[in-house]
Amino acid sequence: MKIGKNTVVTIDYTLKDAEGEIIDTSSGADPLVYLHGIGALIAGMESALDGKSKGDEFQIVITPEQGYGEYDEEDVMEIDLAAFEDPSQVQVGMELVLETEDEGEFAAVVTEVGEEVAIVDRNHPLAGMTLHFEVAVRDVRKATPEEIDHGHAH
Ligand SMILES: [Zn+2]
Repeated sequence: MKIGKNTVVTIDYTLKDAEGEIIDTSSGADPLVYLHGIGALIAGMESALDGKSKGDEFQIVITPEQGYGEYDEEDVMEIDLAAFEDPSQVQVGMELVLETEDEGEFAAVVTEVGEEVAIVDRNHPLAGMTLHFEVAVRDVRKATPEEIDHGHAH
């Protein structure tokens, strides 16, 4: 069976940066299981997997545009430390969920802490990166009606 809309796909993957450094891998962990065709994975990965079958292995280079987007300086912002529940706990690397009136909730990470403000970055950690993937398709099956209804694999 080929990967297409409404199939549930199991893959193993390794993600490297341009220097060959491993950023993420399913090796030594559980493979990734997802419902294909609804944007569960980044666009470049779903289109590369489309039409592949169990046992296929391939490498793909994905541009930021087809990956996690370009890095946007406007997504780096200052927040008054006074706005935090406990300013003394704010530190570099801390992950936050922020809420704005226009955009609702989004994830961000603290990249700098000053005397009065913290700098937070809401870009995806992989934004702006060209992604080098090695992928192995472990299984492809039809999604159940329930999975299609829920929008995820069970
Ligand atoms: Zn469900």
